Amino acid sequence: REAGGVTGAEDRIFAPGDRVGVLTAEPLGRVLDYLAPEEGCGTGDFVEVPLGPRRVLGVVWGAGDGRFDAARLRRVHRVLDAPPMRAELRAFLARAADYTLTPLPAMLRLATRAPGLGDAPGLRRVLRAGPAEPDRMTDARARVLAALAAFGGAAMTLGELCAEAGVTASVVKGLVKQGAILEEDAPRDLPYPRLDPDGQVRLEGDQVVAGDALVAAVAQGGYGTTLLKGVTGSGKTEVYLEAVAECIRQGRQALVLLPEIALTSEFLTRVEARFGARPGEWHSGVTQTERRRLWKMVASGHCQMVVGARSALFLPFRELGLIVVDEEHDTSYKQEDGVLYNARDMAVLRAAICGCPVVLASATPSLETWVNADLGKYARLDLGSRFGVAELPVMRAIDMRGETLAADRWISEPLAQAVRARVTAGEQALLFLNRRGYAPVTICRACGHQVGCDDCDARMVEHRFLKRLVCHQCGATKPVPTTCPACGVEGRMAPVGPGVERLAEEVAARFPEARLAVLSSDLFGSARALKEQIATIADGGADIIIGTQIVAKGHNFPLLTLVGVIDADLGLQGSDLRAAERTFQLMRQVAGRAGRAERRGEALLQTHQPDHPVIRAILGGDEEAFWRAEAEERRAAGMPPFGRMAGIILSGPDVAQVFDFAGELARRDAPLRRIAAQVFGPAPAPIARIRGRHRVRLLVKADKTAPLQAALAEWIGQLKPPANLRLAVDIDPQSF
Ligand code: ADP
Ligand code: ZN
Repeated sequence: REAGGVTGAEDRIFAPGDRVGVLTAEPLGRVLDYLAPEEGCGTGDFVEVPLGPRRVLGVVWGAGDGRFDAARLRRVHRVLDAPPMRAELRAFLARAADYTLTPLPAMLRLATRAPGLGDAPGLRRVLRAGPAEPDRMTDARARVLAALAAFGGAAMTLGELCAEAGVTASVVKGLVKQGAILEEDAPRDLPYPRLDPDGQVRLEGDQVVAGDALVAAVAQGGYGTTLLKGVTGSGKTEVYLEAVAECIRQGRQALVLLPEIALTSEFLTRVEARFGARPGEWHSGVTQTERRRLWKMVASGHCQMVVGARSALFLPFRELGLIVVDEEHDTSYKQEDGVLYNARDMAVLRAAICGCPVVLASATPSLETWVNADLGKYARLDLGSRFGVAELPVMRAIDMRGETLAADRWISEPLAQAVRARVTAGEQALLFLNRRGYAPVTICRACGHQVGCDDCDARMVEHRFLKRLVCHQCGATKPVPTTCPACGVEGRMAPVGPGVERLAEEVAARFPEARLAVLSSDLFGSARALKEQIATIADGGADIIIGTQIVAKGHNFPLLTLVGVIDADLGLQGSDLRAAERTFQLMRQVAGRAGRAERRGEALLQTHQPDHPVIRAILGGDEEAFWRAEAEERRAAGMPPFGRMAGIILSGPDVAQVFDFAGELARRDAPLRRIAAQVFGPAPAPIARIRGRHRVRLLVKADKTAPLQAALAEWIGQLKPPANLRLAVDIDPQSF
């Protein structure tokens, strides 16, 4: 038996009866010893092993450690008919687990989410529609037949069919018995369409230099990280697609990560136009059947390119030749529950382990990446201007200190005039306000009480569209009260401040002739509806667009020439060290929506602090100087990327108990002091209460070179949290 193409010193073939260590993805799992099965097995094989009364999925991780008496060991039940997990992916999982202090089984779970991996019988037999009619039609049977029909005559496995139709296996088996469904041996999977890398685009100017450098990096192979920096519309995508093309020519596979599922379909269409076929698509919106097919195609090397969300990093590539992380600064790359990891950093890790280049693309890179490029750890390629005739928007501040606005008005006169001029000229204007709902606060005018969530430390936000108050942290809703819940006075409850829905009222009143579109994630029941709205806007079906953060991301609106930021100061409040960086990124991204085609755009920022250094930098001050100043501030404070940080988040139902435990942990800081690390807190976490659980955070700060993970493991290992208390480790927290 071949070792599945896995090379490397640690790969071994085991004879029947040899001791093997098998890693399972069970919550309390670890590498356990088993005896190799009759047919033998090799490192990386997916196997089914007995665990207590159950049979579970596992991966052969290496030789057994021999701690158990051979006579008492159980045997591997069977080896699954799937390509073995390669040494490179195993090493990646192990390193990622060490880095994030995540138990290895939880990491393995990220890599074995491919549905149906465990149900090997389904791998061999497939089902297709048969000639006979069922004797009796039930709802469940109808669903099964409809699911098969929807599959256009293609065969499905039992597991896939049950999942698609939402029925148990017995329903399907009943139909098989009657001949309404035929069972047959699985044909080979349809291959993925081949991409044609030679459908050339002619790069121009800076693009040529950048494209050549990336193509050379791919051709040469080996690890290296490159920051590809260029304003929105400068052609970053065209440039890295050249590198993808080279990767495909070399017969290797390319992975492109995008931060938003909403961006993938536009991207796939673009790749299809360029390479003549669609690449593989991997994210939570893809059907189980397709994901399973893609998983196998990636493992066998038949899928040459994958476009996906962060979880695509855990796919079993056969020969990865390039990773691209587009919009690398995007905060949604950080997974904030379950396993806490930053997909951008993990992409760099995986590239380093498998020895391939990684490209981080952004108009507004994260400070970490900027510094790494500045220090020469990453290469850096710059695209200086927008492609073709498109120019960067003119940016100006509107000093709100000089504006007097009527009650319930947020659009200043200069901004209103600019909007009017654009709309009259048949162009589009975007008003940006990063606040969902109608009003951020509901207050009692009699006593000053602000309505909060019962379970979270958050104010409830009025959503007029839903006619309810909504907690943006846990999603809880309640009716908008007419009587104050605190003082009992009636009729004095009032919305305070603007959300996008309220801004829409002002726009409708002031521009009654304009067609209005509101883009806010909560206004759309489905990703499809959101996509349709975006397409409508792109086609010119709206004059004024009001949007939250979702409009800042990558969409292309050719008619849009004016961006008005309602409150540019919004993100600058608060004490977060990243506030300046985030505000800069967001404002530049939003402004970048203006004037992407022939028409020059304009961005107007309403601000009360026009002289604030961040506002000045956004308005076209020296960008590199801004980054350098930010970096200097972090260096002085010993903060990332110059120092290392980790958060320990403790949560539980009783706030005193959570604080007590955190305090006790903070006192036992000897393991941290040994590496000269400091503990701060306990303090309420950035989200202090969610779904009734109180969250308390300890922040640990260490030198760049300190062995932080080992010290953390020893430190938290000293105290076992009580059963109702949860502890999560957050390496490189997003806010500090
Ligand atoms: P970015 O990724 O930096 O935002 P894109 O790659 O999306 O920029 O390029 C912006 C627009 O310009 C796209 O419509 C793209 O097709 C076009 N474009 C960029 N470079 C070229 C080129 N060399 N030839 C033809 N079109 C280009
Ligand atoms: Zn809540």
